[in-house]
Amino acid sequence: MRYFVLIIILLLSYNYIWGQSPQKLRISQLKDNFYVYTTYKDLGGYMFPSNSMYLVTKEGVVMFDTPWDTSQCQPLFDSISARHQSKVVMAIVTHYHDDRTAGLEFLRNAGVMTYSSKLTYELCTEFNEARAEYIFTKDTSFSIGEYGFETFYPGEGHTRDNLVIWFGKQKILYGGCLVKSTENKSIGNIKDANMSEWDVSIRNIIKKYPKTKYVIPGHFDWKSNQSLNHTLNLLKQHKN
Ligand SMILES: [Zn+2]
Repeated sequence: MRYFVLIIILLLSYNYIWGQSPQKLRISQLKDNFYVYTTYKDLGGYMFPSNSMYLVTKEGVVMFDTPWDTSQCQPLFDSISARHQSKVVMAIVTHYHDDRTAGLEFLRNAGVMTYSSKLTYELCTEFNEARAEYIFTKDTSFSIGEYGFETFYPGEGHTRDNLVIWFGKQKILYGGCLVKSTENKSIGNIKDANMSEWDVSIRNIIKKYPKTKYVIPGHFDWKSNQSLNHTLNLLKQHKN
């Protein structure tokens, strides 16, 4: 009888573990009011993760890039409102690909002020991606509530328009897809990349922000802050 019960428990837990649908949204606290959220896209049966960030301020929540999986926009909003009793008021996208921009329409309809660079806006138009409502034409500093951050365009790399976000006080660099995770073994999607300028752009970032505490890449693990150097190594490896 004991064994019978044990087998039933094992069967039930097996079903519990394997019967779950794949994870669609993961939210992790980076530090204080800074969060990394990840959504997933089914690429040939593999749930490919895409990292974005949000920051909770006294004036509301700022999002850096949108969910890739737009079905996760509402769950993300619900989670933000439940966790922080706050709502999203502003969003900035860091390049035109849909892993950054897919949720822009949802955000705009929700009354969020959405921003991109002029170049990103133009590329979104050219490649039929969702566009931000407001554009900036050069590196821009934003201040909202008690926080400040700046956009920096270091040159071409993963795409022509990729930019990074720098939170100077906290030394957090949101690198987006220009920066590869230390978990990556190769340079990845280079369909729209500039392979001769990418390493120059990474060096421009290192020169401008030599002391980073956190570096958040567009995909995969972000626990290491060595991803800028790792990206340089991957680019070198790709050249050889
Ligand atoms: Zn990407």
